[in-house]
Amino acid sequence: MARKNLKPEATSFEVLECVHKYCPECGERMWNEYNNLRHVRTLKGVVQLKLKIHRCQNMSCKRYRIAYRPEQEGSWILPHHEFGLDVIALVGALRYQEHRSVPQIHAHLKSQCVCISERSVTHLLARYDELVSLWLKDVSRLKAVAKEQGRLILAIDGMQPEVGHEVLWVIRECLSGEILLAKTLLSSKTEDLAALLLEVSNTLDVPIDGVVSDGQQSIRKAVEVALPGIAHGLCHFHYLKEASKMIYEADRHAKKELKKHVRGIRKIENSIRDDQLEIAAVVSKYCSAVRGSLTSDGRPPLDASGLKLQERLTLIEQSLQKVEKKKDCRHH
Ligand SMILES: [Zn+2]
Repeated sequence: MARKNLKPEATSFEVLECVHKYCPECGERMWNEYNNLRHVRTLKGVVQLKLKIHRCQNMSCKRYRIAYRPEQEGSWILPHHEFGLDVIALVGALRYQEHRSVPQIHAHLKSQCVCISERSVTHLLARYDELVSLWLKDVSRLKAVAKEQGRLILAIDGMQPEVGHEVLWVIRECLSGEILLAKTLLSSKTEDLAALLLEVSNTLDVPIDGVVSDGQQSIRKAVEVALPGIAHGLCHFHYLKEASKMIYEADRHAKKELKKHVRGIRKIENSIRDDQLEIAAVVSKYCSAVRGSLTSDGRPPLDASGLKLQERLTLIEQSLQKVEKKKDCRHH
């Protein structure tokens, strides 16, 4: 069917890496053979995902050249979809927790700048219903998939579309890309999450090679409780984002404090008398160096503004100390 509107342009870009880089079957390092691009319409705009697909190169391996996709892909979007899982979670929450009608949900999404038709809302609601009833309907098929694979790599994500809504928890299997279980919980307590993980691991009864998550405290504890001794990989993107928040705050504070020490540049410039031309030239150069260092910003999180300012002010200070020394030498 022809589309009336063109696909909306991406407003942000994310690169998704595989947390597991070694073949789960033979243990050899997999290669990043090619990348896939996917457009996802999320609540925060249209995101272009660059997926780094890995494949085992060992010709005698059962998984030779079988694609291993970044574990986090499924936390963004379901297979063959264009709307993000966060949009589906919101549609479900508005319908079942707030009892809103499809036109009302459509209006709400529009107000959040999600480009969507009313028919797509109906469609997403059906996906949501499928998602949360999947475990009950599909256990025997999932059991067969798990048995055939002989191992599982689990991923667990919590989706809270808006503050105050219940969290939609999704447990996926990364080798097959299957969604195993989706359930809304009022709380994200360790016991409740551990119970979900146990339900999956006990029912499928196949060894678990690892778990991947964003490393939230309650998930970490739940994995420890439900699956003791199993490797828990953290998605690097979330990890970096969480860590960078603290670094960013600390750096911003440091920059503010540093700035207090270099106030009053204009006052210094104005205090130079007209008959001190030589000194005036030197002072104005230093003043513009300080001013320049105050306005050049780093790009967080890896290039911190505060640290950059500290570096530049130190250089200026060292240079001033040299001038001071020269002056002392001349006097003696
Ligand atoms: Zn292999």
